[in-house]
Amino acid sequence: MKIGFAMKTISRRSFAKAAGTTAAALVAAPYVVHAQAVKARVVVIGGGFGGATAAKYVRQFDREVEVTLVEPSATFTTCPFSNYVLAGFKTLKYITHDYKALTAVHGVKHVQSAAQSIDAAGKSVRLANGDTLRFDKLVVSPGIDFRWGAVKGYDEAAAEKIPHAWRAGPQTELLRKQLEAMPDGGTVLMVVPANPFRCPPGPYERASMIAFYLKANKPKSKILILDAKDMFSKQGLFQDGWKALYGDMITWVPLKDDGKVVEIDVNAKEVTTEFGKKHKADVINLIPPQWAGAIARTGGLASDSGWCPVNPTSFESTLHKDVHIIGDACIAGAMPKSGFAANSQGKVAAMSIVNAINNRPMAPPTYVNTCYSLVSREYGISVADVYRVTDQGIVAVQGAGGVSPRDAAPSVRFQEAQYAEGWYASMTQEIWGS
Ligand SMILES: Cc1cc2nc3c(=O)[nH]c(=O)nc-3n(C[C@H](O)[C@H](O)[C@H](O)COP(=O)(O)OP(=O)(O)OC[C@H]3O[C@@H](n4cnc5c(N)ncnc54)[C@H](O)[C@@H]3O)c2cc1C
Repeated sequence: MKIGFAMKTISRRSFAKAAGTTAAALVAAPYVVHAQAVKARVVVIGGGFGGATAAKYVRQFDREVEVTLVEPSATFTTCPFSNYVLAGFKTLKYITHDYKALTAVHGVKHVQSAAQSIDAAGKSVRLANGDTLRFDKLVVSPGIDFRWGAVKGYDEAAAEKIPHAWRAGPQTELLRKQLEAMPDGGTVLMVVPANPFRCPPGPYERASMIAFYLKANKPKSKILILDAKDMFSKQGLFQDGWKALYGDMITWVPLKDDGKVVEIDVNAKEVTTEFGKKHKADVINLIPPQWAGAIARTGGLASDSGWCPVNPTSFESTLHKDVHIIGDACIAGAMPKSGFAANSQGKVAAMSIVNAINNRPMAPPTYVNTCYSLVSREYGISVADVYRVTDQGIVAVQGAGGVSPRDAAPSVRFQEAQYAEGWYASMTQEIWGS
């Protein structure tokens, strides 16, 4: 058995000394926060879809493993269903969850601080609160960060005026308020990045949900989507739905028609495309290009792409042993950057970690993902896939899953909207138990 402990900031020398001492001596030492015999110590960075899942399942699979979740916030507001807050039929409260079940039921320790640096070779994580946590295995699930400046003029300060709302919470509220303040007959402009980015169908569901709100409240308004790509997820289904429900309210401009935005003038509320065309709008929602959350990049876990390469069967980093990266931050082959994918990866990473701790072999994993999107409150569409690991990495299993039919009856669209509700309730119940 190993001896587990978490430390206040101590020097490398004093740590090395402490690591060789007994549990009793550690309890007596002034910098020791906690001392307890455990089989192994797992630290999880990030309490979102991937991290909270991994933290829970490591404990489910082996109660003798100590799990510490490092997450600065007391609650987590999900991006899934945040588009419905914009539409006006869900609240931020509904999509906000806490960590009480994870700590009280599953025995996960929640340290409310941010991870500041990772010493992958030395197996420790330094926190913003000054503490240092030692780990045997580390899970990193920090989600995405934005590539500020990739669209000229769009930085953190600009996001306070022109929301991205690509992390849910205050940004969602800001965009909603701007939509409420917009006059009838105004234009909402959405700027959408190239792949890869968080939630491939998300921008198009957002356009649908903004249209849903505008149709009921400001029906003379228009939505213009300027896109840095030529195709998008569930495209035919979205476009059929837009036409049927919103007429010509939504216009989508692909890359080939000069859809890529390269610059924004925040004060003038005007964007400039790659070929110099200018578009002005009353409300702009700019979703910037993205890369892995900062801690993954500064921790040396990302490749030049800005995303983190992993072993597809375990989600262990290919750059650092005993460090697993899951969720949006990693490169997961054919899997999209979705909450469901992060959840699926979190379970596999947890199983791989517990198997390694117990010297058990890992069976070949399969992964799943379903992405529901609403085109209106009662009009749902979906894409589902099962994935397995091949020599080419993670690939979709042919014939498994599928996309909603193009010619489905309204009753089918209604049922899919109900399934979306069910998906959200069961997923968040599973992860945060609330
Ligand atoms: C509008 C929108 C709609 C979406 N809809 C869906 C949907 O319907 N279905 C679906 O499956 N997915 C959906 N997604 C995608 C989904 O939100 C993400 O794929 C998912 O959140 C990724 O999980 P993650 O664990 O990688 O990151 P997150 O869930 O974002 O969690 C990251 C966590 O890490 C924490 N963190 C970051 N840095 C640190 C640090 N240094 N130290 C400690 N903690 C840190 C953050 O505080 C955060 O809590 C949607 C996304 C958007 C934007």
